Amino acid sequence: MGNRISTIVIVGGGSAGWLTAAVIAAEHRVDSESPQPFELLLIESPDVPTIGVGEGTWPSMRTTLRRIGLSETDFIRECDASFKQGTYFRNWRTGDGDTYTHPFTVPVEFAETNLAPHWLGLPNAPQFADAVTPQTALFADCLAPKQITTPEYAFVVNYGYHLDAGKFAELLRKHCTEQLGVKHIKANVSQINAAEDGDIQSVTTDRAGDIGGDLFIDCTGTRSLLLGEHFKIPFRSCQDYLFNDTALAAQVPYTDEDQAIQSCTLSTAQTAGWIWDIGLPTRRGTGHVYSSAHISEDEATAQLLAYIKETAGDDAVANAGPRKITYQPGHRHEFWHRNCVAIGMSSGFVEPLEASALVLIELASGMIADQLPPTRDVMDLVARRYNRKFGRHWNQIVEFLKLHYVLSARDDSAYWTDNRAASSIPEELSEKLSLWRYRSPWHPDAEAVDDLFPTASYQYILYGMGFRTAPRQTGGRRQDQRRIAELFRTNAARAAQLQQAMPGNRELLSKVSEFGFQRL
Ligand SMILES: Cc1cc2nc3c(=O)[nH]c(=O)nc-3n(C[C@H](O)[C@H](O)[C@H](O)COP(=O)(O)OP(=O)(O)OC[C@H]3O[C@@H](n4cnc5c(N)ncnc54)[C@H](O)[C@@H]3O)c2cc1C
Repeated sequence: MGNRISTIVIVGGGSAGWLTAAVIAAEHRVDSESPQPFELLLIESPDVPTIGVGEGTWPSMRTTLRRIGLSETDFIRECDASFKQGTYFRNWRTGDGDTYTHPFTVPVEFAETNLAPHWLGLPNAPQFADAVTPQTALFADCLAPKQITTPEYAFVVNYGYHLDAGKFAELLRKHCTEQLGVKHIKANVSQINAAEDGDIQSVTTDRAGDIGGDLFIDCTGTRSLLLGEHFKIPFRSCQDYLFNDTALAAQVPYTDEDQAIQSCTLSTAQTAGWIWDIGLPTRRGTGHVYSSAHISEDEATAQLLAYIKETAGDDAVANAGPRKITYQPGHRHEFWHRNCVAIGMSSGFVEPLEASALVLIELASGMIADQLPPTRDVMDLVARRYNRKFGRHWNQIVEFLKLHYVLSARDDSAYWTDNRAASSIPEELSEKLSLWRYRSPWHPDAEAVDDLFPTASYQYILYGMGFRTAPRQTGGRRQDQRRIAELFRTNAARAAQLQQAMPGNRELLSKVSEFGFQRL
């Protein structure tokens, strides 16, 4: 076969590089005995550090880990991982102690029944998420989504993970090089060499010479060495919509070794951003993401340290030493150009409000593994599809994150009022909000089967933030009304039952460390 794709070169060894290598290598086993040998190389700079944050994943990570052949027990032990069941938002609505949740489980019977209009008509209704899923009942007591007898990657309620990003990249490196046949080259790429037709022919490194390939995957982080610097694919800023451009990241110890581990990411809104708080087995990871146009670094640091002091005490403040990370929110105009595709920070980044970065890496590497063009001749077709799909994903991410801001009633700073200015709201989102004033979002609002955020997620944010869809007559047949009332009752009963049955996160994670889960 002419122009066969037989060598893939990944540049960059952060979460993006190693996860991509693992997903592709697991699908296309590197086997020198094969009549069509296939080679996967990963070049990683020994000098440029990885970003080293990125601690929240989606439930999709369970499928990805299984796909690459990692055991969940090993993953939990080696990545200091814990279970994430969603996000708990504080002070987003009024700044006055208000709270709501975005759990990973969709409302009961979501496929057939839209409970939102019925919930809107309930007198003295509990919070939307509490009324429609039992999952949120586990948040308050820091309970786990499964039991020690639940097999690996299976669940009682849906979950993703919190993890130590540095340890995760290290585990993936070991797995890729020892189990999946990926070749690891420690060197700095100093030059990109073009072929006559404009494709990348090879990259020049400082200690391993020139390395040629058929497909190059740019995982070089925000530098975007191949797609950005070499191909000069323009960057599309999203800062008009999402103002945050700076993060201060810190690690915080537990006050005692038995302190409960949260079941969800805590997100506490501030005057010009928000603070994340993630519980791992051995420490918490916390940080302040903010808009540098709306608050000084000193003030942002003071808000983060005040939070750490309140939640972990004076010693934690003394040792916090936050690390500053600046970024431009946005993404490249296209992600796959000629024989080069960018994955991870090199393709784009916006604030981690819904932890959407690692899931994009999973989706990108999954699509490449599934649709790997056999020859160069068909690569441009796959690239066009890829660009359409990921362009759509980025638009949805920007829109969905913005939804969290536009519904706020906070007016204690310019940040919040600027966030509601019509000019800062994507047009599509404004249109949807107008529709949802008289009709709850549900399946007809999904644009494609592979939308990143299901319409259930829109419901959780809308109604959690106090949005009201005008109640309408949901009457229908008497037996339907009885069935709906029964669904709410059953959900409440299931919540109470789970609260009794599920172990605490810390208890389960300690047991997993000691005994492991049942292997599938
Ligand atoms: C504050 C913050 C919080 C975040 N939180 C989350 C979260 O909760 N959930 C989530 O999903 N994501 C989160 N992210 C995003 C997540 O961290 C990244 O998407 C993920 O780690 C992937 O990074 P990367 O591999 O693309 O880049 P990096 O980690 O920066 O890796 C870049 C790699 O390229 C290599 N490199 C660079 N130049 C060269 C060269 N010339 N030659 C060879 N190699 C080179 C480097 O050595 C490194 O190995 C967060 C990001 C930030 C900034």
